[in-house]
Amino acid sequence: MSSQPHTVLPWVVRRTRLPLLSLRCVDCPSESATTGAGRFRVNANGKLLHVWLLVRCVSCDRTSKLAVHERVPVRAIDPATLDGYHDNDQELVASRLLDPLIARRNRFSLDWTGAWELHTPQARLDERWPVRVEVGFDDPVPVRPERLIAQGLGFSRNEVLRRIKCDVPPRRTRSAGFTFTVMAVD
Ligand SMILES: [Zn+2]
Repeated sequence: MSSQPHTVLPWVVRRTRLPLLSLRCVDCPSESATTGAGRFRVNANGKLLHVWLLVRCVSCDRTSKLAVHERVPVRAIDPATLDGYHDNDQELVASRLLDPLIARRNRFSLDWTGAWELHTPQARLDERWPVRVEVGFDDPVPVRPERLIAQGLGFSRNEVLRRIKCDVPPRRTRSAGFTFTVMAVD
C-alpha cells in the first residue's frame, strides 16, 4: 500500500526537573509542595524501619513527611537502597516521588507544569509521504497525545484531526509510549 510510512521519527518526553506536588498545606492555604534538593528521613525502631521523603510547602516552607516505608523489617530493604536513603540519593528521590503507590498512600498528585520537555529530531516532514512517529517516555509525564502532537509538529488542532492517525485515543491523557502517523497531504 502506498500509505506505508517510509520514515520513522523517535520523539521523547523527558522531565527537566522534579515535578511539584499538589498537596494541601496544614498551615496555610497553599496546595503546592516541593521536594527541594530531596531529603529522606530514616528512623529505626528496633528492627523496624520508617522511611519518609521530606517535602516543603512552597508558600510557608512547612515541612511534611511522606511515608515511603512504614514499619518494615530492616532486612526487607535492600542494603544499597537503604544507603541511598541515608545519602539522599537523587535517583531514589525521583523514583519514590514518581511512584504512583506512594502518591496514592500519601494523597498527593504531581504537578508537571513546566517540569518536562519534548525532544524531537530535526527532520523535515516530506509532504508526499506518511511519516510515523514513535513517542517514548523517559518519565511518566501525563500528556494528551493530541496536544503533544500539535506542539511537536507545530500543527493546529484542525490539522491534527485531519492528518494524524494515532494508535491510542488522542484526547485521553497518558504517560506511556504511543505511535502516530502523519498522513501525506492529498
Ligand atoms: Zn504552607
